[in-house]
Amino acid sequence: MSVEENLLEIKSKMAKAAEEAGRDADGIVLVAVSKTFEADHILPAIEAGQRVFGENRVQEAQAKWPGLRARASDIELHLIGPLQSNKAAEAVSVFDVIESVDREKIARVLADEMQRQGRNLPVYIQVNTGSEPQKAGIAPDEVANFVSLCSTELGLQVRGLMCIPPVDENPGPHFALLQKLASENNLQNLSMGMSSDFETAIGFGATSVRVGSAIFGHR
Ligand SMILES: *Cc1c(COP(=O)(O)O)cnc(C)c1O
Repeated sequence: MSVEENLLEIKSKMAKAAEEAGRDADGIVLVAVSKTFEADHILPAIEAGQRVFGENRVQEAQAKWPGLRARASDIELHLIGPLQSNKAAEAVSVFDVIESVDREKIARVLADEMQRQGRNLPVYIQVNTGSEPQKAGIAPDEVANFVSLCSTELGLQVRGLMCIPPVDENPGPHFALLQKLASENNLQNLSMGMSSDFETAIGFGATSVRVGSAIFGHR
């Protein structure tokens, strides 16, 4: 199937999952994850009206997106992958939303850089819901302190929480935990759910889902 057909199918599955959850599908954003795909494979999605995209590497986004942005004025590009301090300046200039704020150091560097560039981008705090030692993210029991550091001390615009559940586990309990943490911290937005589990995530209150291979094909 083409990228356009895939997009239509994902949108219709999102609408169905929203309806089953008694939610309004209009409140759920599809972030089309275009990492590893070349600009000419992404263009049909823009032509089909898709406007929100996710990339996981700063340099790759920097190479592809200035040209693609010229195709539509209202594109919103999300960083969904780990960020190194020495790439923060580029990240703040290339992206519109940073979804992967996962440690204090990067929160501080981003806050400085946003101030320097006069771009106060919305951010998500990435939570390590599975407490996996090798995985990025804030531990669930540190979320409250970290949210307060980011918003009160650093002045970051915290839009919500994001998670990537452990690959080999049922994602439901992880989505439920993220939902609980967001509600405890008065955060409205939940970025969770990928190609294999976005419908489940919508059932647990996802306000945005990050879908890559189901739209663009295998990487
Ligand atoms: C690659 C990626 C996705 C999309 O994964 P698919 O399984 O291709 O839908 C979503 N979120 C993050 C953080 C990713 O790195």
